[in-house]
This record gives sequence, C-alpha cells and structure tokens, in this order.
Amino acid sequence: MPKDLTHWISGKHFEGTSGRSGDVYNPATGEVGSRVPLASKAELDTAVEAAKAAFPDWAATPPLTRARIMFKYKGLIEDNADELAAIITAEHGKVLSDAHGSLTRGLEVVEYACGIPELLKGEYTEQVGRGIDAWTTRQPLGVCAGITPFNFPAMVPMWMFPMAIACGNTFILKPSEKDPSCALHLAELAKEAGLPDGVLNVVNGDKEAVDAILDHPDIPAISFVGSTPIAQYIYSTGAANGKRVQALGGAKNHMVVMPDADLDQAADALMGAAYGSAGERCMAISVAVAVGDAGDRLMDLLKPKVEALKIGPGTDNDMDMGPLVTGDHLNKVKGYVDIGVEEGADLVVDGRDYSLQGYEEGFFIGGCLFDNVTTDMRIYKEEIFGPVLSVVRSPDFDNAVQIINDHEFGNGVSIFTRDGDAAREFTNRIEVGMVGVNVPIPVPMAFHSFGGWKSSLFGDIHMHGPEGVRFYTRQKAITSRWPTGIRSGAEFTMPTMK
Ligand code: NAD
Repeated sequence: MPKDLTHWISGKHFEGTSGRSGDVYNPATGEVGSRVPLASKAELDTAVEAAKAAFPDWAATPPLTRARIMFKYKGLIEDNADELAAIITAEHGKVLSDAHGSLTRGLEVVEYACGIPELLKGEYTEQVGRGIDAWTTRQPLGVCAGITPFNFPAMVPMWMFPMAIACGNTFILKPSEKDPSCALHLAELAKEAGLPDGVLNVVNGDKEAVDAILDHPDIPAISFVGSTPIAQYIYSTGAANGKRVQALGGAKNHMVVMPDADLDQAADALMGAAYGSAGERCMAISVAVAVGDAGDRLMDLLKPKVEALKIGPGTDNDMDMGPLVTGDHLNKVKGYVDIGVEEGADLVVDGRDYSLQGYEEGFFIGGCLFDNVTTDMRIYKEEIFGPVLSVVRSPDFDNAVQIINDHEFGNGVSIFTRDGDAAREFTNRIEVGMVGVNVPIPVPMAFHSFGGWKSSLFGDIHMHGPEGVRFYTRQKAITSRWPTGIRSGAEFTMPTMK
C-alpha cells in the first residue's frame, strides 16, 4: 500500500485537508510508493499564519543563536546523509552516489549560512557630517516562500531556506510533488536541530498551492526554480503582486570543444555532464559544439562510451545513470528523440528501446547521441531534460560563440581548450551566467552565487552566497546625530557637508 505523506506546519506533520492527492513513483520499478497531499489555499493559509506567528521572535533572535542552530543542523544532515540520499533515489531515481553528491552541495549552503553573523554585518561611517554618523543594516523580510523542481529534491530547497532562515525570515517550502519526501525529512531534522516551530514549513501541492503563494499578501518574497514557462509566470505574477521574486528557469547548456583540447578529457567530461543523473540537471551539457576537426575525433570517442553506459536502478552504485523521474517524462524525452530523427539529425546511438530485466515497468531510457544537429532544429532549441546529447559542428571559435549567444537560454556553458587566449576571450564574450574553462559543470560553490542569464533566470538576484543574503534581507540606512546643546535654528536648504 502506498504511504500517505503530509505537510509540515508549525513543527508537526499536518494531514492534507483538500481531499486532493498525487502519486509519487519509484522510477526504477514504476510503482506508486506514496501519495502526496495537494494543498488548497486553506492549507497554505494555515502555514502562512504559523510562519507569521513565528517571525517576530525569530527575527529578534541574535544571528549567533541562529548560526548555532545551523551548526547543529549541519551535523544532523551529515548523520542522516545515507537516509536522505536513499529517499532522493527512491523518488527521483538518480544513483545513490549522485544523490549523496547533490545533498553535499546543499549542505554547503548550510555551512555558508553558519557564517550569518559575519554576513549580516552592515557598513558604518563615522562623521558623515560634523557630529553625524551613518550606518546601514540588513533586516529580514518576513514570510518567504520557495517553490522547487523535481530534479534536486534536497539541493535546490537548500539553496533557499537555510539562507532565508539564517537571515531571520520564516519560510514556506513548496517542493516538487514528484519527490516531496526529502523536504519533509529536512524539516524534521531542522526541528531536531532546535529550529523553533513555524520557522520552516513544508506545504505540498501543485499549481493550486503555488497560486495561493503568489496571491498571498503576507508573503513578500518568492524564490522559484523550475522550467522556463513556469519561472516566467511566477516572476510576472509575483512581481505584479508587489513581491520580490527570483525565478530560475530551464537551460540548454553548451560545451565548446576546441581542436587543441585534450579530447579524451573532453569526451569523459561530456559523458558525465550529459548523462549523469540521466541528463535531469539544469547544468547538464546537452549540446557539444565541436570546432573544426575536433568533431570527427570526438564522435569516435563518444559513440562507444555512450553505448557502454551502465543503466539500472539508482540503488545499484555500479550504475552510471538511473531511470527518468516519471513515465510522462520518459515519453516526452523519447518524443524528442523521434523529433530529432524526423528533423534529419544523425542518431548515432539510440537508447529509446532500452529495457532492463526485472525492471520492465521502470522509466528507463538508454543514452542517446545525435550528430550533425543544426541550430534550426527543435532538439537544439528546446530543453529535453534527458540523456540526449546533440553534437553541433562549428567551423571556428567565433561561430561557436555566436550560436551560443544567439540561444534563448544562458544558464551554464563550458569550453575545453589548452589555449589560454581562447579561454579568456570566451569567458569575456559569452552571454551565459555560469562559465567553465575545462570544467564541464561550472556550478558555483555556496559562497558564490548561482544563476543564469536570458530565459534561464527572471529577476536580477542569483541564489545563495552573497546574493542570497541580499535577496532575503532589505537594507535600512540610518543617519544619527546626538544633540550638542548648540541651537542653530531651523534649516530650510538641502543639507550638504561642510
Ligand atoms: P516545473 O516547472 O514543472 O515545476 C517546478 C515547480 O513549479 C514545482 O514545484 C511544480 O509543482 C510547480 N509548477 C508546475 N507547473 C505549474 C503551474 N502551471 N503553475 C504553478 N506552478 C507550477 O519543473 P520540473 O519539471 O519540476 O523541473 C525541471 C525544470 O527545472 C527544468 O526545466 C530544469 O532546467 C529546471 N531547473 C532549473 C534550475 C536552475 O537553476 N536554473 C535548477 C533545477 C531545475
């Protein structure tokens, strides 16, 4: 029998009251593992009331005390890492070692948030005028909300709530309804770490819950990560409702392979970046741009590697990749491979018929590799979000830069070369938010900030790191003079410094 999941409100499991629920699958077997309640406006309102009630005391809690809770939280996540990774694999499908890796990247944000007393220190200027001092401080916003995608059920929520909470806000997390259990367990551990009830709440749901967040007058800030059409909707609706919004969208990440690159290294990098997590990563490389004569040599290296991919249940750590997240997503990815064939790209490795004995109902697909993909094709323009790598041939460096700059998305990009001049020129001219030089997946560490350009991000503030502190606080500037006893009378001109 599938297990019934709950929400998490005011430090307790909270049963769904909407009467609506969704199926959560085990992607390796295709079975329904649990049912997740899909919240209505009423449940969201309950969570907002809890978060509002918890806010004044939490905002007044010294940053050092908040940091100490973060330290305990970090320890608890480390102690429970195996269990959290197993939950990720059970609902998402990615292999356990990859689930551990993604959890660690989330944990790094908790580690960064442990430094919140330092991060919240404002600026101070003595004597901005005679006997006048000025300083700026950053204060929390109130009840913040986060809406997250299926592909990183621990890491992406952890880009958001540790920063928001450390800054003194309270938080409502609406995780993906496809893999919600990890968020619930993270909330339980936060309570165990000493986080007061109501500071972190989890409301499960779909569009109805999201729309209730967008419309709620007591939520001043929303962080979103997901596909581009929804990111655009969240940004425009949230902004129209007067909210501060950061909405990260989809991607189509390129890797330029220059003729002088170490091609063995480049091919290995492409394999991990294109097929790791079955391509369900926003920073996955889905297009290789092979410059000049790199193309034929690269294809010779890639083809046998894609054919040899080890694909199976994520619980088997010998596997390179697991299944896709749902049957619907599997059909969508297969549909894109069909489209690529119709469009005239060369399907060099076809994984569409992949099947695994004992797991026939699982959502598996083999690695797919296209050559001679052109920029007018849908498989080039649109995000597929599966283990499908397209190779585009490019005559020279300038053309490679141009096609990437012309693309709708601008999340991540990478160049493989041994030429420092080409690499420097690339990092300078490329219109993409996160750039790697001989690094295939240039995900910034927690103490930098994460975000793309163009249709990969709506809003102007990136996530976590210093930008996270900016997003989850507002600045106050204070100018102060203590009377000296000298009375100079009213001044009617604009004050200037003498
Ligand atoms: P999605 O857009 O379908 O869902 C994301 C969230 O939005 C979920 O919580 C979902 O419940 C909600 N949602 C879905 N449809 C909605 C609607 N019509 N109205 C309101 N809310 C809605 O994305 P997904 O399939 O869960 O995740 C994959 C996508 O996320 C990919 O496009 C991937 O590139 C992107 N992603 C981007 C980043 C990044 O940093 N830019 C990181 C991870 C994933």
